[in-house]
Amino acid sequence: MILVIGLVTAFVLLMIFGNRSTRPCRWREARSRAEDGAMFYRCAACGAETLNRGGLPKVCLDPTKGTP
Ligand SMILES: [Zn+2]
Repeated sequence: MILVIGLVTAFVLLMIFGNRSTRPCRWREARSRAEDGAMFYRCAACGAETLNRGGLPKVCLDPTKGTP
């Protein structure tokens, strides 16, 4: 039982902290705007747009937040 509680706790902590930088962004593929090899993504949350070859962007590109 303790093992199960530990696993659930670890999973919840991972959900909260593991992906913090991408959490505010909800990337959507825009296939019509893809360029050869690179998929175009648009964030439904902040409106950021990017071309990315390696799948979904790992960061939030919200222009109002600025990049450190
Ligand atoms: Zn965003």
